Amino acid sequence: MTRTYLIKPVLDHKYSFITHGEGIYLYDEQGKQYIDGSSGAVTASIGHGVQEITDAMKEQSEKVSFVYRSQFSTEVAEQLAKKISQISPGDLNWSFFVNSGSEATEMAMKIAIQYWQEKGMNTKNKIISRWMSYHGMTMGALSMSGHIQRRERFELMLENYPSVSAPYYYRDVNYRTIEECDDYYAQELEKEILRVGKDHIAAFIAEPMVGAAGGALTPSNGYFQKIKSVCDEYNILFIADEVMTGLGRTGKMFGMEHFDVTPDIMAIGKGMSAGYTPMAATVVSEKVMEPIRSGSKVVMGGHTFSANPQSAATSLAVLNYIEKHHLVENSARQGAYLKEKINELAEESEIIGDVRGKGLFVGVEFVEDKLTKKSFESRLNVANKIVEANFEQGLLVYPANAGADGLTGDAVILSPPLTITMEEVDELVKRFGVALEKIEQELL
Ligand code: PLP
Repeated sequence: MTRTYLIKPVLDHKYSFITHGEGIYLYDEQGKQYIDGSSGAVTASIGHGVQEITDAMKEQSEKVSFVYRSQFSTEVAEQLAKKISQISPGDLNWSFFVNSGSEATEMAMKIAIQYWQEKGMNTKNKIISRWMSYHGMTMGALSMSGHIQRRERFELMLENYPSVSAPYYYRDVNYRTIEECDDYYAQELEKEILRVGKDHIAAFIAEPMVGAAGGALTPSNGYFQKIKSVCDEYNILFIADEVMTGLGRTGKMFGMEHFDVTPDIMAIGKGMSAGYTPMAATVVSEKVMEPIRSGSKVVMGGHTFSANPQSAATSLAVLNYIEKHHLVENSARQGAYLKEKINELAEESEIIGDVRGKGLFVGVEFVEDKLTKKSFESRLNVANKIVEANFEQGLLVYPANAGADGLTGDAVILSPPLTITMEEVDELVKRFGVALEKIEQELL
């Protein structure tokens, strides 16, 4: 092929062509095998080429592939919503289907604002979010995102919603205990609420564990309880962005379950269809739906492809597959093993500063100096070098931001399909170790 007509993420990068996938592996047209150690963008969580899913897709497409949600509902979309209500904590019983994680968080924001409007509180229309966060690329979702690089180009059009810290104990400059850090984060949120005014704030949004903007930043068990009680005190809804962490990724069905906090609204995507089709959802509690149901009765929003039956059938098959094959449990088990093995590598390594995460969501932060935690200079682009070195070894890892300013540090996320076996984890760690050695030789 002499030229391309496809706009790819980096225009002058030569992308390999993938011909097929099976389980945790992908194969390119040269026959090279890759372990999908990141599940793409933390998405392909049941692995590639699963026939149960392709059968379900075929079966649905033979019935009907598209109906418009304003004209009809379908049994399969109803079933999917019921399934999500069954697996979700608390009274998160209602689903609004969309097509991407960005739409799911943006819809969460809109529903939060509508909730207060239905209650006659029209001024509660701002969101508070955290620096070091990523909630998506659409303008509302990007307004909530504290991902500096992704905001930069559009900054003038965005709202400044990110205003408090995400928990990042590894880099606490004051050497406080975790409890002291958590108290600080809760006070910071409270101060921000008081500054903006509680009557102007609809919701606070957070990822249970920060993905792209932090490299699996993992809070303590107590962090979210303190944050949630501040939200409750000031009448602010709590939105959990589970787009990356949901559906078994962290060793529980939802990331927030680690912290015993139930959100008012939850955004899910990625693993919800494991990448077999675009599908995401905003999951809403009875509490939030109640004034809408007894008020205007119309949730304002929606997209042409919302609740698409083809996507609903695919997602339903994926969720059933996760349950049937005990993949949440496997994520917890193999994730603990993966983290243990990466920690062993970290002990020997001169550049691994921190290993974090839960389940099959493991973050690795790289530093120039383990003692001072000094990050590498950003011009070295270490996270990308790590990604490339692993790519050469046939292992895909996901780059993430990290560092004292959440911008110039280097981290990667290891998030293989939840189906991974112990032997496959060993193979993944072996490839990661070889790549690490090469990078260390190059950098030190
Ligand atoms: N929220 C989180 C936590 C994410 O990690 C992402 C994507 O990486 C999104 C939202 C946006 O999802 P999408 O890329 O499907 O729009």
